[in-house]
Amino acid sequence: MTTQESPHSLNLTPTIIARSEHCISRANISEHALKVLYRLRDAGFDAYMVGGGVRDLLLGREPKDFDVATSARPEDMRKLFRNCRLIGRRFRLAHVHFGREIVEVATFRALLDGEDANETVLQNGRIIRDNVYGTIEQDAWRRDFTINALYYDIRDFSVVDYTGGMADLKAGILRPIGDPKLRYREDPVRMLRAVRFSAKLGFKIHPEAEAPAFELGHLLADIPAARLFDEVLKMFHGGYAHATFELLRHYSLLSYLFPLTEAALTREECGFPITFVAKALENTDARVNDGKPVTPAFLFAVLLWEPVRERLRVLLGQGLNEFEALQLASHEVVAQQTRYTSLPKRFSAPMREIWLMQPRFRQRQGKRPLRLLAHPRFRAAYDFLCLRAAAGEELQDACRWWTDLQAADAQVQSEMTGIARKQSRPRRRRPASMRANANA
Ligand code: ATP
Ligand code: MG
Repeated sequence: MTTQESPHSLNLTPTIIARSEHCISRANISEHALKVLYRLRDAGFDAYMVGGGVRDLLLGREPKDFDVATSARPEDMRKLFRNCRLIGRRFRLAHVHFGREIVEVATFRALLDGEDANETVLQNGRIIRDNVYGTIEQDAWRRDFTINALYYDIRDFSVVDYTGGMADLKAGILRPIGDPKLRYREDPVRMLRAVRFSAKLGFKIHPEAEAPAFELGHLLADIPAARLFDEVLKMFHGGYAHATFELLRHYSLLSYLFPLTEAALTREECGFPITFVAKALENTDARVNDGKPVTPAFLFAVLLWEPVRERLRVLLGQGLNEFEALQLASHEVVAQQTRYTSLPKRFSAPMREIWLMQPRFRQRQGKRPLRLLAHPRFRAAYDFLCLRAAAGEELQDACRWWTDLQAADAQVQSEMTGIARKQSRPRRRRPASMRANANA
């Protein structure tokens, strides 16, 4: 069997890799996923672990989550698991909740063929409905890449391979199942997934799947902004954001997700904006790999900073003051960005704060610095400032000063900000007219 056969020629027997011939041990599968698999099996259904769980375990990596594919229908799932919620409109999935862990269970599905396919597929080839139940063979062929279509059988712990995924896994190749052009047209997000898996696993995208990625990026315009936002987070918060970013640029896909960023980066001088984004993404990767929290607010603040700065320069040139200009620039940039990826308010509000706090770091005397220190967004805005410094903006001195201020005790803090000096002088009340002036 080769991987290039039509997804619809399904009279093929899979390759079965026996337990003794692969490295997946139950000790590395989450106990909750095992519980789901065993209960489905004991109730007489077929049940397999599939997707990233199998792929990552075969590569000796720790899976992010465990997905299950089964012959059981969502209604059956509800009967079997009290802690089960059915989700999804386009296709119904069962989420089985165990505290914070969710095991996602999907009934085997088929890609529709022949006449039915016309009803399923939009004119430009994009799938709008694929909630038709099917056999495991059909389920395998409708998946995106061969390495994602390996099934771990809970009955005998073997791995079942319909599409040649095992060979591609060994060779480090990311190969769409079937005709790459068709598969990208059906769901353009698969191009982003190709980039993400290539960055994460260090796999090569198969040459036949590379060329169409250069040509079909524009199809991402048809994907809802909310789905692209989710995909951006998967790409940039998985611990390999920097590699993903480079690949997105290489395949000219960044311009369909962050067009303003892409445009600003192509206008780079002395590598400046790129250095900033690259350093920030390396930083994000280090945080993720250290198990530290990351937030979309910071990520979007980084990616959109150069467009905001460009707009800021124009508005300052038109005579707006710095605060107004920054407010307006961020507003405009967010409004444009959300035509491509959504950005929920709970992230865009703190992102704006990070930007708006940047000029306030210039103020180092008086009570303001300590007030800024107590701001809930201080830490993120300070990290942002120091990244700007590290990327070559003339802010090294400011970054050092704010670093020292945080480390200092109250006495030293008041000396650094000049409060100590002021307070030792006798206080004199100024006339009301002068006070009003000072507040203007
Ligand atoms: P990870 O969870 O590490 O990001 P994954 O491969 O498990 O990687 P999921 O998004 O969890 O990715 O999807 C689970 C599986 O569902 C995939 O491995 C793939 O088989 C299938 N799948 C997901 N998205 C698509 C898609 N857009 N088209 C076809 N199959 C898909
Ligand atoms: Mg997964």
